[in-house]
Amino acid sequence: MNFQELKALDHQYTMQTYGRFDVALDHGQGATLYGLDGETYIDFASGIGVASLGYGHPAWIKAVDEQVHKLGHASNLFYTEPYAKLAEKLCTRTGMSAAFFANGGGEANEGTIKLARKYSFDKYGKGRSTIITLNNSFHGRTITTLQATGQDVFHQYFFPFTEGFRYADANSLDSVKAQTGDDTCAVMLELIQGEGGVLPLDKEFIKELAAYCAENDYLLLVDEVQTGVGRTGSLFCFQQYDILPDVVTFAKGIAGGLPMAGVLCNEKCRTVLGPGTHATTFGGNPIAAAAANVVLDVLDDNMMDEINQKGAYLRDAISAFQSPYVDIVRGMGLMVGVVLKDGVDRSALVKKLYDQNLLVLTAGSKTIRLLPPLVINQAEMDAGLAIMKDVLTK
Ligand SMILES: *Cc1c(COP(=O)(O)O)cnc(C)c1O
Repeated sequence: MNFQELKALDHQYTMQTYGRFDVALDHGQGATLYGLDGETYIDFASGIGVASLGYGHPAWIKAVDEQVHKLGHASNLFYTEPYAKLAEKLCTRTGMSAAFFANGGGEANEGTIKLARKYSFDKYGKGRSTIITLNNSFHGRTITTLQATGQDVFHQYFFPFTEGFRYADANSLDSVKAQTGDDTCAVMLELIQGEGGVLPLDKEFIKELAAYCAENDYLLLVDEVQTGVGRTGSLFCFQQYDILPDVVTFAKGIAGGLPMAGVLCNEKCRTVLGPGTHATTFGGNPIAAAAANVVLDVLDDNMMDEINQKGAYLRDAISAFQSPYVDIVRGMGLMVGVVLKDGVDRSALVKKLYDQNLLVLTAGSKTIRLLPPLVINQAEMDAGLAIMKDVLTK
């Protein structure tokens, strides 16, 4: 099958919910991908921040292969070793107390929202169920997480949405204070607003917000679906903000490409979702868990240093382009936002990058977002940067 045949087949038989790029991927190695018709691509996208170990990582393949042969599924009615070991690794390396595994980011955030509401219900009774989220946030595509998302464009078509969300401005404690009240149980946020444009929140704001939440017994829920699992140069981004959230969610990069997500909570919250209150059929699947164990083993302290160095290298190189289009370059670790000047035709630039076989993402209304595999090497970075330089300086 060639690309045009595949595209025609896809269009005939799948719901066209995605505005796809004209790229069909066949196989990959490291941060290099190969298309159906033999093209070679440099990957600055990792899917959408998912292929944390790139493609064809030997330890990941070995662990997945072994687990496929041993046991492909167990359900959560039974104990499995990869599941418990993964929870142990996540807790001991973050200071969190207990894990719940799910399959995707939106689903993990749903679990967190349930946890926050039940925590408050158990302690204070009904009526304290509102969660404050931030304007320009993104928390998922389920009916509830769409409403949790602080962007009006997501609050369309699918009425009625779940009640109990109000929105405050990022980096303004006064704005958060103005939205909280007797009906509030939690504040939920991303530390770097990913889909919103790769916007890191102020450290001072987060520290003050964490203290304010603790004083009022509002749970602090941190959505690390995109920022977690080494992406920003620490295992979780909150570790660079000097806070310990009540609940953290993760997904995208956790299992290096297999579907997995989860919720980590602190000691105060560990018993909130007791037997019968929350569940999933697939969550914590042993193959995904075996893959995630490898991802965490690869992401040691040395690897965090490398991620920070590589992220700084990319940001510095792009900042030095003297591009007529680029306003600023921001981000942490290998989560990079190239913010374009007002009025620049982003889709034209992105098309030119794709025409030269560089895979990138966008975010917000004027940002080109880079989420390369965390294992990307120097040659791959330089190849991608050369294409970016060509496109962004002409
Ligand atoms: C991607 C993302 C989600 C949604 O994750 P899915 O796996 O697509 O459900 C939620 N929150 C953040 C911050 C994300 O980046």
